[in-house]
Amino acid sequence: MGISEETLEKFGRYHNPSLARLLKFTGYAAVEEYAEGVRITDSEGRTFIDCGGGYGVFSLGHRHPRVVQAVKDQLDRMPMSSKVLINKQLADLAERLAQVTPGDLQYSFFCNSGTEAVEGALKLARLATGRTRIVAAENAFHGKTFGGMSASGRDIYKEPFQPLVPGFDHVPFGDTAAMAAAVNDDTAAVILEPVQGEGGVVVPPDDYLPAVRRICDEHGVLLILDEVQTGLGRTGRLFACEHWDVVPDIMTMAKALGGGVMPIGAFTASAAVWKCLSTRPLIHTSTFGGNQLACAAGIAAVDAIVEERLPERAAVLGERMMAGLEELRLRYPDIIKEVRGKGLLIGLELTDPGYGGYIIPEMVKGGVTAVYTLNNPGVIRFEPPLVITEEDIDTVLRVTGDAVARAAGAGVNM
Ligand code: PLP
Repeated sequence: MGISEETLEKFGRYHNPSLARLLKFTGYAAVEEYAEGVRITDSEGRTFIDCGGGYGVFSLGHRHPRVVQAVKDQLDRMPMSSKVLINKQLADLAERLAQVTPGDLQYSFFCNSGTEAVEGALKLARLATGRTRIVAAENAFHGKTFGGMSASGRDIYKEPFQPLVPGFDHVPFGDTAAMAAAVNDDTAAVILEPVQGEGGVVVPPDDYLPAVRRICDEHGVLLILDEVQTGLGRTGRLFACEHWDVVPDIMTMAKALGGGVMPIGAFTASAAVWKCLSTRPLIHTSTFGGNQLACAAGIAAVDAIVEERLPERAAVLGERMMAGLEELRLRYPDIIKEVRGKGLLIGLELTDPGYGGYIIPEMVKGGVTAVYTLNNPGVIRFEPPLVITEEDIDTVLRVTGDAVARAAGAGVNM
């Protein structure tokens, strides 16, 4: 047995049998061995343009030199915090986030993943308001711990784990009237993704987030914007809420914050919200959260994203990619229903989710990693590193076009 078969067998036997079968079916049955920039090389020596981008982790590409160097330097000094002396890297990253996040967001708490950031944000909202109810959106994705799951809006991930955290109401995303009807004086917070990622890349109407902000203000309700996937340049602005000039009371982030090198999450809030923690310094804590290694990666990542002007790059390249995919849709309207997105967070909705089972493996064969969105298997996501070149985008478009053409030619019947 080669290393790929051996590892797949082990993965299935000791980790996740059904995922092992799915990986084999979609053509991913090889070990990922090396990655640099936008490319991943597998154990068979095949190279892929990483169009899944770790679902938003690899905005800086793989192994960005500046982040790798910062982490190596920190590793040789002090990777983990004693938790008793003062952690400089944590303070520096918190300052950076206060500088780059919109409005009056100032204080940050660090954790290790997106869902932990959401947990912290929900707890903070309850503490700051003394209220318990949370309004979230249908089809939302906020993670898979109990709070994140309770806020999420797809039943198949939630039903087996009932009862979830009480007090969550879900309304259709983008529907201002439904939000106005759901929010009242018992509501602690509204939690939304500015653009739904796992829901299938859904961009709300332009007046939606400003209206939600107003509704929240009218009832003294906090607005939590979950920028775990959209944050740090992905949609063409540093934070997606900036497209609509909306400042949340609490913002969550993770994924790209670690620069593609370290896991880290954070929630950031205004001084007014954070005040409720002032007499309770240890009410929300994390052993690993804010460790120096992750914070060193975070500082380098934020600096690189800002200095390399990656949000602007995402905006320009996103237009190129969407224009190419839209051309493809016009050629194959029976297969592609819609192309939508912002910056380099793009979804291609198929007329039938079944087409994905043919198109995705064909794209993989053509050297492009492709995946569908978690809450909507009928949408193939395009979420490449923001450092991708025009030339690589054109390659992705060609490979996608060939895959769709083969699906059409093969008469894949839905
Ligand atoms: N929130 C959003 C908007 C996400 O897209 C995700 C993950 O895709 C999460 C939260 C959960 O993040 P994690 O998988 O790091 O827990």
